[in-house]
Amino acid sequence: MSKLCENIAYTHLAERFGTPLYVYSEQALTNAYQNYVNAFAGCQPLICYAVKANSNLSIIQHFAQLGCGFDTVSGGEIARVLAAGGTADKIIFSGVGKSIQEIAFALNAGIKCFNVESLPELDRINQVAEMMGQIAPISLRINPDVDAKTHPYISTGLKANKFGIAMADAERAYQYAAALPNLQIIGIDCHIGSQLLDLSPLVEACERMLALADKLAVQGIALQHIDLGGGVGIAYQNEQAPDLTAYAAAVAQMLAGRNLRLVLEPGRSLVGNAGTLLTRVEFVKQGEEKNFVIVDAAMNDLLRPALYQAYHHIENAEENGQPEMVADIVGPICETGDFFAQNREIAAAAGDLLLVRSAGAYGASMASNYNTRCRAAEVLVSGDTVREIRQRETFDDLIRHELACLG
Ligand SMILES: *Cc1c(COP(=O)(O)O)cnc(C)c1O
Repeated sequence: MSKLCENIAYTHLAERFGTPLYVYSEQALTNAYQNYVNAFAGCQPLICYAVKANSNLSIIQHFAQLGCGFDTVSGGEIARVLAAGGTADKIIFSGVGKSIQEIAFALNAGIKCFNVESLPELDRINQVAEMMGQIAPISLRINPDVDAKTHPYISTGLKANKFGIAMADAERAYQYAAALPNLQIIGIDCHIGSQLLDLSPLVEACERMLALADKLAVQGIALQHIDLGGGVGIAYQNEQAPDLTAYAAAVAQMLAGRNLRLVLEPGRSLVGNAGTLLTRVEFVKQGEEKNFVIVDAAMNDLLRPALYQAYHHIENAEENGQPEMVADIVGPICETGDFFAQNREIAAAAGDLLLVRSAGAYGASMASNYNTRCRAAEVLVSGDTVREIRQRETFDDLIRHELACLG
C-alpha cells in the first residue's frame, strides 16, 4: 500500500508523471495560510507570501485566490505574481540590489511598497520615480541586530550581514528619505533570518522596530505599517515549529495602541511541509565503508542538503519488507556534496519509490540544470484530483538558447 498525498497514491503519481517529481498538497497550502490568518486575526495582517520559497505560477495563483499578498525579490518574481493573477497593490519588493529596470517595472505596475536596504537605493528609487513622474511608496529594512540562532547562511539580522540598514543609522536614513521628493515613507520592515525555531528573536526584533517607529513619530515621520518579515521555521525532523498563536499574541500586545498595520512575509512556513520530492532508487551499492542508495533526483533538484547540510525526512512510499540498512542517499551528480541524507536508516531496493519530505520550500525554486539535467515536473494534488503545474523540461528546452548561437 502506497502512502498518499491527500487521496492519491504517491506510486500512482510517480507512474503517471515520472520521477523526480515534486508533489504538493493544495490542502496543506491552504491550511498553512489559514493558520497565519487565524493566529493573527486580531491584527488583521497583510500576509505576503515570500515568492522565492516556491515561485510556481499555480502556487502563487492559489495564494492569490486566498487573498494573500506577495513579497518579491526581483522583477521576475513581480512578473510571476502578475502573470498568476496577483494584484500589484499587495506586492512588496525586497532585496539589496534592485536594478533601475526592476524599479521602473515595479513602479509602472503600481506595487504596494519598496523595502529599501540602503541610502544609494533610496537615491536610485527617487530618481527613477522622478523620471516617471511618480511617487514611490517605501519602507526601510532595518537590521535589528538580533541573533536568529539559525544556520549562518540563512541568518540575516546580524550586524555582519549584507541586509538592511543598521539600527544606529536608521533615524538618519529615515530623515534622508523624508527629504527626497519622489518618495513616500509608509513603513518599516525587518527580516532576521529563516528557519527560526525560537520566537524570542522575532519578538525582540518587533520590540526594537516599534521603539524606532515611536522615535520617528516624534520627528514627524508617521508610518502606516510594520513588516516583520518571514522566517518562522517548520519541522523537518522532530523540531517543534514555533507556536504562531503565541507569536501573534506577543505582536498584538506590542501593537496595541499604535496605529500600525501589520505585514508578514512568510515563505517556508507556507509551502515547506506541503511538498514532497518523489525519487526512484536506481541502484543500491555496497561500498567498502558505506552503503549508498543511488536515486534519480539530485542536488540540482533539491539543493538544501548540499548547501546547508539540511535534514529531510526520507521514507519509502511503500512498505517493501526489506530490512533497514544504514546508507547515504545520493544523487547521480558528479559532486561529493550530492546527497540527500548521510548515514540514514532506510529500507530501500532498486526500483523503490522514495519520498523526500518537507521539500515544498526552497526546493523547485532553487533547482538548476547542473550536469545537463532537466528540471523535474511539479504537480498539485487536491483531494482526488491532480494537476500538472510544471511540465518536465526536455533536452530541447535546455539547449535552445545555445542552439540559436551555434555557428
Ligand atoms: C526569504 C525572505 C522571506 C521568507 O523567509 P522564510 O524563512 O521562507 O519565511 C521573507 N522576507 C524576505 C525579505 C526574505 O528575503
